[in-house]
Order: sequence, then structure tokens, then C-alpha cells
Amino acid sequence: MKYFPLDKAALEELSRQYPTPFYIYDEKAIIENVRNIKAAFSCFPFYKNYFAVKALPNPFILKLLAKEGFGSDCSSYAELLLSEMAGITGEDAMFTSNETPVKEYEAAKKMGAVINLDDFSHIEYLEKTTGLPELISMRYNPGPLKEGNAIIGKPEEAKYGFTREMLIKGFAMLKEKGVKRFSLHTMVASNELSVAYHIETARLLFELAVEIFNKTGVRLEFINLGGGVGIPYKPDQEAINYKALTDGILKAYKEVLEPAGLTPMGIRTEWGRVVTGPYGWLVTRAVHKKEIYRNYIALDACAADLMRPGLYGAYHHITIPGKENAPLTETYDVVGSLCENNDKFAIQRQLPKIETAAEYIMRNKSGGDFVILHDVGAHGRAMGYNYNGKLRCGELLLRADGSVLQIRRAETVEDYFATLDINGVKVFN
Ligand SMILES: *Cc1c(COP(=O)(O)O)cnc(C)c1O
Repeated sequence: MKYFPLDKAALEELSRQYPTPFYIYDEKAIIENVRNIKAAFSCFPFYKNYFAVKALPNPFILKLLAKEGFGSDCSSYAELLLSEMAGITGEDAMFTSNETPVKEYEAAKKMGAVINLDDFSHIEYLEKTTGLPELISMRYNPGPLKEGNAIIGKPEEAKYGFTREMLIKGFAMLKEKGVKRFSLHTMVASNELSVAYHIETARLLFELAVEIFNKTGVRLEFINLGGGVGIPYKPDQEAINYKALTDGILKAYKEVLEPAGLTPMGIRTEWGRVVTGPYGWLVTRAVHKKEIYRNYIALDACAADLMRPGLYGAYHHITIPGKENAPLTETYDVVGSLCENNDKFAIQRQLPKIETAAEYIMRNKSGGDFVILHDVGAHGRAMGYNYNGKLRCGELLLRADGSVLQIRRAETVEDYFATLDINGVKVFN
């Protein structure tokens, strides 16, 4: 049974103040999870997770994570600003970008973020534009040495990172140019639930660190294992065991880095999804029911609020508050209101019988079942868009004391039309 922190009565009350749809995040559960991650990694010196801002780009959340010692991983100018807004600056911020414009490197350098280069050609590009900082990281793409997975694709076909040869040449070049401090990064999978896969990635990086040292004399200050740790979206999947993961990484650390004299070595991660994903929900209400060749339930949210199902066919578990134990007698496609047939949150899903707001209206009543989409605390609201003129919903934070704080309001049509005003002057009149 997938967890949701509020019951139907609490939702009815909450939705009077904040009409559905909205995202809600569980502060207490996020903090508990962060502490478990830190405890598992406490066997390494200087551990830090740079939370991937793109997963949940809300400064309230970033600040909450910063209070627990997490930094930020930014990939754009706006994400750097968000990080700064939450008080995460200097080397607590990582800048992992690709195909990067000068303006973004300038902002990252000004903030003192750790710049993670994505390509060999960017060494001289950065030198010529903003100048080289004292600390530089580079992103490794292992190509055929490593299998990827469905979301990120095979490393060989992925646009990111340096080849092994370029990386070694790159470290030698940076050293010659006077860079003093170095770090290595990779990110080869997304939403990967296999502990063995992540341990193998760490070992690959440790072996590469030794090769870099032997060939160039560069001693890395820390190794960034990237993000990509999966979460159990389906009820029969199991969460990653943090301790099993760090035990395996520690074993590789002792077998590879220690004999080479490269310890203590800082270990960093860029986890996003696994940090907040399971602790966020999209709360919607069923609006319409339609029975044609298939039976449809239409929600007041659409793919503009959550595009993972439409984009990747991603599974998000659905529960109906008050009907947690009801038999799953119906087969529905659960859809939104976009003029796009991939606007489906679930396809042929077994669910309890759902009552819609339209059915209540026909009885001169207000109501209709709430429909909860689970595991949307990362890469959820963040991926939203405005197709069909749809306005993205807001975000709430369920505080540890049980109160609810609005941390982003829903969009309005004024927001949607704001880009038609230029410096206060209407482009169209
Ligand atoms: C997306 C991304 C992350 C975060 O990935 P998760 O799957 O959310 O852990 C970290 N680093 C980089 C470079 C990314 O692109």
C-alpha cells in the first residue's frame, strides 16, 4: 500500500483553501530520508549530496535541504539563481551543464560554484571567456564500458561528457594551465534501482582516478558519483538499500583508491529523484467520466502538470482517498484535458469505482473523488509546461508540525500573458 499523509476529510478541508490540483510535499519524510542518506555515507570523508535542482526547483525545498547539509547541482542560469536564493553558494553548488552559453559559466564562476565541464573543447572556451577557476571538475562518459538504461539511453549514444582519452588529456592540460584542484564526475543512468549497477559505476570512477593520477600526476580532491538512483514507482518494487550501496562503494574505495595512495578522497553525489521523489504527490479531483471504446476518468490536472507518463510512459501509482481498501473493479484510462492523446496519467489501470465532480453536480452537490498520483516529488511539477494554454498548478509543503505552507501559487492567465508585455509595454493592443 503506497503511503499518502492525509485522509479524505483533511483533503476536503485543505482543498477549500487550495483548490485542486496541487502538489504537496512531506517535509518530515524528506528530512528523515536525507538523514538516512547522510548516515549511510558517513563512512566517507567530506560526503555531500548536491541536490539536483531540476528535480524540484523550489527554493523552500532547497533551503530545507541546505539546512541538512545538502548543496545544489545546477544546470542553468535560473537554477543558479534558485540555489543562491536558498543560500547555497560557493563550492556548495555544483554547475553541471552541457552545451553551455558563456553567460551561464560567468554566473557559475561569480557564484563560486564548482564548474563541471562537459566537453574537452570547453576547457579553452572557459579559459577564453570567463577564465579558469582554481577548482575544475570534468564529466566522464564511459561509452561502451557501461550500459545505460531506458531514460538516459546508452552512454555511447548520450551527448554528455568526455571520452576516457580526452579526459586524461584534459586533466594534463588543466594542470599545465595552472588549475590547482580537480574533481571527476559521471552520470550514466537514470532511475536505476540496482545497487550493483551504482557500485560498479563508483568502481569505474575509482579506477579512472588511479589512471589519471598515474598518467598525469593529478590527484583528485573528490569524486562525484552523479544522480540516477531510482525509486520504486510500482508497488511491487523495492527501494534502494542505502547501506548496501555504501558498503559496496566503500569496498571498492578500499580496494582501488587506498592501495594507490589516493585516500582520503571526497565522495559526492548529485541525487535528485531519490531525495524527494517518493515524498511528493499530485492531488487532483476526478471531473468527468466517459465511456466509449474504453472507460475514461478525466482529472482536473493534465500532462502540463505532470508529463512523465506522456513523455516516457512512466508509471505513477494512483490511489483514491477513502477507497484505499475498495476492490479494484474498474479498468480506466486516467486522462487530462489536453488535446493530445498521450495526456494519460494511467492506461488500462485497475481502480475502484470513481465518482466524478460532474456526477455530483448533476445531483446538485459538490464533491467527486480525489485522485492521488504518487511519487511525483521529483521531475514532477518541474517538467510542467503550458501547451494548450494550460496553467501549471501550485505547490504546498506539509510541515513537520502538521500545518500546510503554500510554497508556490498556481499560475494565472496574467502569468501566461506576461511575455506579451515588454518592459511594461503591451506588444499587442
Ligand atoms: C538529472 C541529473 C541529476 C539528478 O538525477 P536524479 O535521477 O534525479 O538523481 C544529477 N546530475 C545530473 C548531471 C543530471 O542531469
